[in-house]
Amino acid sequence: MNHRIGTGLLLLSILFPAACGVGEGDQAMSQPGEKIRVMLLDGQMIYDGHKWAETSPVFAAILASAGRFDVEVVTSPERGRPNDDFCPAFSDYDVIVANYEGDPWPQKTMDAFEQYMRDGGGLVVIHAADNAFPDWPAWNEMIGFGGWGGRDEQSGPMIWWDDGKIKYDESPGPGGYHGANADWPVTVRDPDHPIMKGLPTVWLHCCDELYSKMRGPGQNMHVLATGRQSPDQKGTGRDEICLFTVTWGDGRIFHTTMGHDVRSISCVGFITTLQRGTEWAATGKVMRTEVPDDFPTAETTSTRDMTIPASPPENN
Ligand code: ZN
Repeated sequence: MNHRIGTGLLLLSILFPAACGVGEGDQAMSQPGEKIRVMLLDGQMIYDGHKWAETSPVFAAILASAGRFDVEVVTSPERGRPNDDFCPAFSDYDVIVANYEGDPWPQKTMDAFEQYMRDGGGLVVIHAADNAFPDWPAWNEMIGFGGWGGRDEQSGPMIWWDDGKIKYDESPGPGGYHGANADWPVTVRDPDHPIMKGLPTVWLHCCDELYSKMRGPGQNMHVLATGRQSPDQKGTGRDEICLFTVTWGDGRIFHTTMGHDVRSISCVGFITTLQRGTEWAATGKVMRTEVPDDFPTAETTSTRDMTIPASPPENN
């Protein structure tokens, strides 16, 4: 089933914001009835197959189509360029959606982000964003687990789902692996959580990588769903955690390991959980939990047409 969304989307793109917002005090939280303020943070990906400039407009369209978010895109300096002045005003937003894997941030920016989260900020981690910042301890605590970037047993145990609970495997080896880009089943592990409410117990996720052998501190993780790829899809055959939450300080984190490219983020299962997860990270609630008519089933994938129309010519 195809629906076209994203027409008329107006995005404010901010380059090189200067103010960290450190010490400004009150976290500016949106009031009931107001839209949730989202910073979609992008600008770098280490692996060229992760095309942030293609996926960010789709993430923005997904959130805009839910009708309860105001999305601003904040783009970092290019990889390898000076980023000493890169310090977004995190506290102006209810939630930061990370579509970034690249150069470490300046200390003042890391400090400001930690303060924002400690004070009750929200963070959404999508796919390769959990490859970022392997040497930033607070980031790794916030994301629960990550992959690649030189991660190994020093980064924490390998973490997956086994026998109804989180499995922590202390064996040595590199962190981060995925099988073939393919369709695979997602199984809900907490049907009562607001992000998962009403969704089918199992649905078939479209055309994505399933991250596995992920490593990290893994503290304060709450597992929402797992995915499984069989060895004939080059998978581990294990239940890999693909949707979960983390609490850090007073902050809330929603982490989806799904979302390799525009095709996989067009899955209605991805779209629905990103919308709900972003709202939950921002507010701790999900106001509307109706299930879209085109939600995938256990046997059938379902995607929407997420093609973003080109901007109209300025002098037309
Ligand atoms: Zn990927």
